[in-house]
Amino acid sequence: MKQRILIIGSGFAGMWAAVSAARVADLQGASGLEIAVISPKPEMGVRPRFYEANVRTLTADLRPLFAALTIRHIAGSVESIDAAGHKVDIMSETGERQTLAYDRLIVAAGSHLRPAGAAGIAEYTFNIDSMDAAARLETHLQQLTQQPASDARNTVVVCGGGFTGIELATELPGRLQSLFGDDTKIKVIVVERGDRIGGRYSQAMREVISEASAALGVEWRLNSSVESVDASGVLLTSGERINAATVVWTAGVTASGLGTDLKGERDAQGRFVVTPLLQLPDYPDIYATGDMAHAKTDDLGNTALMTCQHAIQLGKFAGHNAAASLLGAETLPYRQEKYVTCLDLGTWGAVYTEGWDQQLKLVRDEAKTLKTAITHELIYPPAANREAAFAAADPLAKFV
Ligand SMILES: Cc1cc2nc3c(=O)[nH]c(=O)nc-3n(C[C@H](O)[C@H](O)[C@H](O)COP(=O)(O)OP(=O)(O)OC[C@H]3O[C@@H](n4cnc5c(N)ncnc54)[C@H](O)[C@@H]3O)c2cc1C
Repeated sequence: MKQRILIIGSGFAGMWAAVSAARVADLQGASGLEIAVISPKPEMGVRPRFYEANVRTLTADLRPLFAALTIRHIAGSVESIDAAGHKVDIMSETGERQTLAYDRLIVAAGSHLRPAGAAGIAEYTFNIDSMDAAARLETHLQQLTQQPASDARNTVVVCGGGFTGIELATELPGRLQSLFGDDTKIKVIVVERGDRIGGRYSQAMREVISEASAALGVEWRLNSSVESVDASGVLLTSGERINAATVVWTAGVTASGLGTDLKGERDAQGRFVVTPLLQLPDYPDIYATGDMAHAKTDDLGNTALMTCQHAIQLGKFAGHNAAASLLGAETLPYRQEKYVTCLDLGTWGAVYTEGWDQQLKLVRDEAKTLKTAITHELIYPPAANREAAFAAADPLAKFV
């Protein structure tokens, strides 16, 4: 009987895991290995671009790539993992169930916004965590153009001043201006619990974020938390009320809850703490990767972040190791010593840093050119060509 590697998720990590596993099978001449990816659709949502307009276009069709590499796609969502029985339960979009056995399982189901506690968040806030959510925000902003101009219509409150919040807030003045007209007075306000703009970044990066915010007119409310949200705006715990037709929640991400019943340690973000080969310590035939893996990147104490930069490499190592362990090839402990940050800052430009201490390397237009190259090319799937895809899927090939 054919051996099977099952991969849950077709995001950055799942897609690269499949290509990397196919590469090992090719190198080993193992035509009998089935590589199957389970996800709702045979596509990869380009989540790092979900703050942009035209969000429905920000997806990559994986069918040509999977066809070229003989990777099977199974449309559906995994509902449960039976680790003892080595099988998963899958539900299709039309409600049909099936159970599929695996020899190796790679869990790459990603992450989502952590539900927040304040009143009104579920009912009245938008978010850009998924394609559908970002599309709802886009439709809402377009519909606002039909409403008479008012301060509230022209105001967007972005809750959370982390990476996603900053990229969205600095993108919005340009987006709103093109929707409402250049003469309209736009207001974008970031509500942030911390006491500094760009609090968890290096000082050099924080200064750039502050400069860009000031130039774009993006206001920050620091040391501020949301008390409640309603149809006409936000009440902060300080007592300040901000009237706004649009409130976007960006704070707090947690790993997919898939496999919560499996034994083993999870970190504060809900990620599986994995071995150097990215296995679950209690289940050597199950690998966790991408936003679902808490993995050491080096010997200096750094761990992978929930970024596509890490998800891509984690995916390549997980796919390699799952296939190598089945086919008797050499496995590779995950390492990713280089770390860069490239933050979009709307029409002002961008900022690019290198290292975990975030040393400033590029700002404004130069950084923007790099950011565009990263988000429009580098993070997209490889061409549907065996040679090119396998070269890119080598976990030891240069990445960033
Ligand atoms: C708005 C936004 C901006 C971001 N900006 C950046 C950035 O600038 N730089 C950066 O490096 N990172 C950025 N990130 C983070 C980056 O997008 C994630 O780290 C990355 O998507 C993680 O990849 P992944 O493959 O682990 O998960 P995902 O990309 O989330 O993919 C998960 C996959 O699993 C599937 N899935 C989920 N549950 C199931 C199930 N039960 N059964 C089957 N399939 C399932 C999904 O459909 C999807 O195909 C951003 C994220 C967001 C939301």
